[in-house]
Amino acid sequence: MPQQFDVAIVGARVAGSSLAIQLAQQGAKVILIDRALFPSDTVSTHVIYPATIERLARLGVLDGIMAHRPPPLYTAWHHQNRMFVAPHTPEHGRDWAICVRRSTLDGHLVERAEACGVTIDTAMTVTGLVGAGSPDDPVRGVTAYRDGVEHAIHADIVVGADGANSTVAKLVGAERERVMPTRTMLYYAYWTGVDGRNTQDFFFEPPWVCAHFPADDGHHVLTMNGPVELRRSIPDLEAFYLDKLASIPQLAGRLRHATKVSNVRGSPRLDGFYRRHTGPGWLLTGDAAHFKHPASAQGIGDALHAAEVIAAGIADGTWRSSYPEWREVTSRDLYAFCEFLADVPTDAGMRRVLDIAIQDPSAARAIVDIWSRTSAPWDAMARVPAMLEAAGPSPESVLAKYEGGSPLRLAS
Ligand SMILES: Cc1cc2nc3c(=O)[nH]c(=O)nc-3n(C[C@H](O)[C@H](O)[C@H](O)COP(=O)(O)OP(=O)(O)OC[C@H]3O[C@@H](n4cnc5c(N)ncnc54)[C@H](O)[C@@H]3O)c2cc1C
Repeated sequence: MPQQFDVAIVGARVAGSSLAIQLAQQGAKVILIDRALFPSDTVSTHVIYPATIERLARLGVLDGIMAHRPPPLYTAWHHQNRMFVAPHTPEHGRDWAICVRRSTLDGHLVERAEACGVTIDTAMTVTGLVGAGSPDDPVRGVTAYRDGVEHAIHADIVVGADGANSTVAKLVGAERERVMPTRTMLYYAYWTGVDGRNTQDFFFEPPWVCAHFPADDGHHVLTMNGPVELRRSIPDLEAFYLDKLASIPQLAGRLRHATKVSNVRGSPRLDGFYRRHTGPGWLLTGDAAHFKHPASAQGIGDALHAAEVIAAGIADGTWRSSYPEWREVTSRDLYAFCEFLADVPTDAGMRRVLDIAIQDPSAARAIVDIWSRTSAPWDAMARVPAMLEAAGPSPESVLAKYEGGSPLRLAS
């Protein structure tokens, strides 16, 4: 006999486990299925901002995560010996971000889900659905394999929280839409022994941007971001990455006594997209539903926010419409801003941004609050003409390109 659940969630990281916790707290019988084992790492640089930190508190995992001592971070931008540093608008008294490795973050979420009564099935790969996902044949479960043995798991709702290359999306035919092609690649490695600071630092050396994020348990993330078309001219990525960091004097100084403790990882394939979010018996969340360039550092926060919206929609029976509508309203400006983020500023452009941010701390805060989602991107950029000129007159002017000039359609 197949196991029967109210909700089967494929993918147990931030999108899946945060939803599972809330559904279990609402009294639902939930299973989380993942081909990975936990705690484990995944490709992500994992900076999260005050509203997301508060969501982790509501999920009951913040104390456990903070026990790994991720330093509280303000945001600093540097260019040619000029810099500004700004706090974020406080949320529940916290005006800082944190950077938490995914083994720590996802590990605590999965543990909490299990404590809330969720069934956790790891090392299990979903390959098929029960039901086609059409109105007369709704999705009613999944088929999955572990050690070559097939398992059938039945559920009233199947959730694809299985990442950008979602199997559930493929099985229900939810194609990528409004695709924003990759313009900048992103690579990083973990380090220990880096001179610590309470800032996340971005260093602009056009056409490259490197960043330093102090993280949990004494680890540090050092990133390198640059035009994707240069990837083919870099035969030895590890050597190139080390040279790039060493070429930035402030970073080279911090790394003098440091050890690189991972290989360089990341991707030149970071296309943004939306997918249809819901259908009969199924829904997609996290990166499976909507992916945006990681320079926006929004994937984790969005996944946790979506979990709250979906859980409320499942509780009141409105999820098929309320969830896609929420996404459409909340994601547009940020998605448009991702195109701007993919363009590395020129020396002159960056100097003009820094001039304003250094002279006017409230403009500096507005800029960094684009990332904490308390400044609308175009409102913040209106205070910094060099950014506005590069970004375009409005989010709609950017998004129209990805819709062939027609108004945006709802994704459902
Ligand atoms: C280089 C990089 C840097 C980033 N930096 C940041 C950042 O600083 N801040 C931020 O907020 N976001 C960042 N992001 C985005 C963030 O990592 C993602 O938005 C987030 O991981 C999405 O979580 P998810 O739970 O939707 O999917 P994922 O984290 O991709 O998890 C999907 C899970 O599904 C499982 N799975 C997949 N297929 C199957 C299957 N068929 N059967 C069973 N299990 C399956 C996988 O094993 C995996 O565990 C970054 C992303 C990248 C690529």
